[in-house]
Amino acid sequence: MKHFIMFGPPGAGKGTQAAMLVDKFNLRHVSTGDLLRGEIKRETELGLKAKKLIEAGSLVPDEVVEGMIKNEIASHPEVKGFIFDGFPRTLEQAAALDGILAERGEEISGVISIIIDDEMVKARIRHRAEIEDRKDDMDEATVANRIKTYHDKTEPIIDYYKKAGKYNGIDGVGSIDDIFNRICGIIEKL
Ligand code: AMP
Repeated sequence: MKHFIMFGPPGAGKGTQAAMLVDKFNLRHVSTGDLLRGEIKRETELGLKAKKLIEAGSLVPDEVVEGMIKNEIASHPEVKGFIFDGFPRTLEQAAALDGILAERGEEISGVISIIIDDEMVKARIRHRAEIEDRKDDMDEATVANRIKTYHDKTEPIIDYYKKAGKYNGIDGVGSIDDIFNRICGIIEKL
């Protein structure tokens, strides 16, 4: 089993790259953002609570996303590995993921971090807002809060994985194919 984390700020292209990696390496793509948007669409109780937080650009509570991940892992015993996208987003989530995998005798093989600066984050999200119908991409204050949340709560995870020797940073500037080739170069070595 090989599990990877696609890491980076909002709009870095984690979802696009993860979807491409699924085909090449036969992994299962798990995006907590997509799972939450599914809950919102189905108007579940969880979805209704998550909607407010997502539209404010804040994080959904750790235990909610950890439960989703646990469920997702348990319900796909057939896969060769997972590619986590948008998870973990806090140190607490990173430790929880290690715990969930350790119970199965597994671990994260590597973290691939797509590095772009805040100006590029804003530009990429503006571009996505023209293509996808995501409310959290359309409001400037929400985008600003998502960037702040990334720096405050998510970025500290980088050190956590650096200490574990699992962190791989790549330059996120370039075409989708350029970035994909950079990521493949790393994954093939892990
Ligand atoms: P994403 O599609 O990954 O950009 O996620 C969209 C929004 O869903 C985020 O801004 C958060 O509000 C929420 N979300 C997604 N993943 C997580 C997570 N791992 N922890 C907390 N909130 C999350």
